[in-house]
Amino acid sequence: MPLRFYSTLTQTVEQFAPLEGNTVRMYTCGPTVWNYVHIGNLRTFTFQDILRRWLRYRGYQLDHVMNITDVDDRIIREAKAAHKTLDEYTAVYTQAFLDDAAAMRLERPERLVRATEHIQAMARLIAGLSEKGCTYQSEGSIYFRISAFPGYGKLSHMDFSGIRAGARVDTDRYDKADARDFALWKAPKEGEPFWETEIGAGRPGWHIECSAMAMQYLGETLDIHAGGIDLTFPHHENEIAQSEALTGKPFARFWMHSEHLILGDQTMSKSLGNFFTLADLLGQGYQPEAIRYLLASVPYRKKLNFTFDSLHSAVTAIQRLRNYKLRLETEKFPEGLNEKLLERTWQASREFEESLDDDLNTAEALAAVFEFVRETNSAMDAGEFRAGNVRPALDLLARFDAIFDVLGPSAKAASISESEIEALVAERNQARRARDFARADQMRSQLLERGIILEDTKEGVRWKRK
Ligand SMILES: [Zn+2]
Repeated sequence: MPLRFYSTLTQTVEQFAPLEGNTVRMYTCGPTVWNYVHIGNLRTFTFQDILRRWLRYRGYQLDHVMNITDVDDRIIREAKAAHKTLDEYTAVYTQAFLDDAAAMRLERPERLVRATEHIQAMARLIAGLSEKGCTYQSEGSIYFRISAFPGYGKLSHMDFSGIRAGARVDTDRYDKADARDFALWKAPKEGEPFWETEIGAGRPGWHIECSAMAMQYLGETLDIHAGGIDLTFPHHENEIAQSEALTGKPFARFWMHSEHLILGDQTMSKSLGNFFTLADLLGQGYQPEAIRYLLASVPYRKKLNFTFDSLHSAVTAIQRLRNYKLRLETEKFPEGLNEKLLERTWQASREFEESLDDDLNTAEALAAVFEFVRETNSAMDAGEFRAGNVRPALDLLARFDAIFDVLGPSAKAASISESEIEALVAERNQARRARDFARADQMRSQLLERGIILEDTKEGVRWKRK
């Protein structure tokens, strides 16, 4: 079966291939740097990371643009309250986002672009829309006339045709019930930043930012536009209206949206005040890769119910895989090749790939790997696993980790010193002498987590860094 994705636009799963050549042109809405991102936001970015990696696994090249929204209503409000300039204010949260992304092992998009560096492109786009009669002015602001775009509502699958002409909305974020003509360009206000452009002085609305940056780098029709489900309306609906009204072409071929992260019985959000940042969870002793695993393990179109139980399960799952890898790397297996197990390895690999081809079904992909690990661990215990089966099994793990990226040692592992390792090894030897094998095994796992591999030999315990 070919690679296929669900598109919010058509509400169906469709076969995917890029429009031109081998390169996927993808735009994802990045963070609005008004505050720290929370793990609900990170779920969206993790989904996009899995999507990136899977496209590359399938042989495509990527031209992925992610924006940093560094000017919008909230940023202006918060910067003002903090008595900082826009740049001073957003620099802190931009860096915090990049640090979080690196800790979560999110690949850097090919282009990471800032809204404030593309103001003239936004003004040009608005000028083009005005020439086509899609806009009107009111008190120095410029609005998009949604009645000028008959397809308005096609992404969120709502009928907005009854909306009273001329009713306007000035804020960037509003509900479907409040759908009106929206602001493309906002008139300068006392104490607010503004830019001089061909359409006059002012600042862009949030929605035009993404249309302008996407089209500048990726052309008029993108292969994929992705974001969190809450961006479907009004943000992406408005992006479609502006872009397509201007070009007359489809703005994006695939619209992919990841579902909410739920905490308790509510969507995790800053405005509800029920959220964890990455720093909150790291402060409680969790490794970023456990959070990454948890966020990636639920297929992106399903709601993800965040609990500490599920986070613990993620820790255990990673540990199981790391232990399995260690066993492959360190245990002596009988010479030869078990053909049946080799065939089983290929089957697991096929199941892994078919699951991800199926609209990134990460849960099934993981199930394929874990079932394989369970069966081959048993085969090892029964003496059926052979030296020739090691390489193919490690290869399967490498395929898995090219996408999930959780097996590499935790970030702080690099900082463990030789004397610290020696001390821990001595402590483990002590536990073994006391026949406390559970404790000894636990310590082996902990060292492995920090990138240290122990080998029990006749001459005693040897250790090496991964
Ligand atoms: Zn956007």
